[in-house]
Amino acid sequence: MSKDLKITPVSEWGYNFGTPFIMAGPCSVESEEQVKETARLLSKYPFDILRGGIWKPRTRPNSFEGIGSVGLKWLKEAGNEIGKPVATEVANVKHVYEALRMGIDILWIGARTTVNPFAVQEICDALQGVDIPVLVKNPINPDLELWIGAFERLNRSGITKLAAIHRGFSTHEKSKYRNIPRWNIPIELKRRFPELPIVCDPSHICGNRELLREVAQTALDIGFEGIHLESHINPDKALSDAKQQITPETFGEMISILHSRESLEHNPFAENQLEILRGKIDSLDNYLLELLSERMDVVREIADYKRENNLAIVQPSRWTEILESRLATGERKHLTQKFIKELFHAVHKESIHHQTEVMLNEGKSEIEQK
Ligand code: PEP
Ligand code: MN
Repeated sequence: MSKDLKITPVSEWGYNFGTPFIMAGPCSVESEEQVKETARLLSKYPFDILRGGIWKPRTRPNSFEGIGSVGLKWLKEAGNEIGKPVATEVANVKHVYEALRMGIDILWIGARTTVNPFAVQEICDALQGVDIPVLVKNPINPDLELWIGAFERLNRSGITKLAAIHRGFSTHEKSKYRNIPRWNIPIELKRRFPELPIVCDPSHICGNRELLREVAQTALDIGFEGIHLESHINPDKALSDAKQQITPETFGEMISILHSRESLEHNPFAENQLEILRGKIDSLDNYLLELLSERMDVVREIADYKRENNLAIVQPSRWTEILESRLATGERKHLTQKFIKELFHAVHKESIHHQTEVMLNEGKSEIEQK
């Protein structure tokens, strides 16, 4: 399968989006009045795409499952009134046909659909030959390949106006987020497909209003190209995702205090300064790798000794002692406990791998000698 995606830059989608580009609107279209009034109030502030859910994927059946097709017309009219393209979620072929028939400008595939390659493929088949931007939310489970698979399927249907929406990952762990951001996943997506724009969706990551700004700012600091925020004229009364929606006024305030970070291409001076610092990082990383390799040499000597003296590889008390002393040193050096634990677990795993290899080689040479 091709490692490349064909991507049409956002600047060539036929709109005049800002950088970052902003997608805003209610979680669900609830009534003609609600979507049009939200759009009108939002249009006082800079934003680019009016969103609204028509068919809602809800966890339990007795909650509001969306207004259905009738809402498409209201959404489209709301967009026309403020002169902005509109977007909605499609989860099956019927949704695609109805959204296209009503002139919805941009589609997105929701997190619960991205997990299912059959569903994604059906949507792609229905979109064959249609030139429309499609945004793909990350799957609810932290599986980057599944996310990439959806873009590849869309590409095979001829869709190249693509963007990713990072909405966080479902978890059973206790967390301050509704969906844990796991920033490393969208960052890895960016590393593999630098041309693919990423929109951060703080609303679904946070699940509350308090953390929205912080998450949106982090996304911009990392260099994501877009922000997605749910906004409702009366958030507390919203029929879905009430806790995370904000009024258009709050949206306006939030957008005004976000700092967008400049791309290096436009700032050669910063690039020079960065070059120097990056040089330092490169040599420190090489030094780190040198040290790790030296550590593994010592580990192999220890393995030789253990083998000769018939000792087990893992000595639990020694491992506990290492972890405790490294945690204490790490704390003095302002490194988080989580990082030190992860780092030394990885180092320990690699050490065990080297030691078992030494032990196994001994077995092998004895067998080979027979
Ligand atoms: C939404 O955008 O309203 C939505 C249902 O999001 P997600 O697919 O990220 O849960
Ligand atoms: Mn929502």
